[in-house]
Amino acid sequence: MRLAIGKLGIFDFPAGRYVYTGSARRNIEARIARHLRREKRLRWHIDYLLACPYTSVIAVERSEQPECLWNQQRQGQILIPNFGASDCRQGCGSHLQYMGK
Ligand SMILES: [Zn+2]
Repeated sequence: MRLAIGKLGIFDFPAGRYVYTGSARRNIEARIARHLRREKRLRWHIDYLLACPYTSVIAVERSEQPECLWNQQRQGQILIPNFGASDCRQGCGSHLQYMGK
């Protein structure tokens, strides 16, 4: 599937499972609810992926760990550099990881 991700560019997303790591300084439940809602103004990179009719969310995990530490513990592949990582200062490379089929 080929998708335009805001100003980041146009990318091919192979079918499979992805893990996205985000954070919310406050009211994480409202942020999660927003991510799960399809109708919204597209703002973050993840909004463009979740707005795609072929995308479905299969799990939401919450953690008290810092976002980047949590992200770096995943063992996925980076297909889209800088996705969701515009303000990352920990060298994650991307906050979206491809976990395979
Ligand atoms: Zn990071």
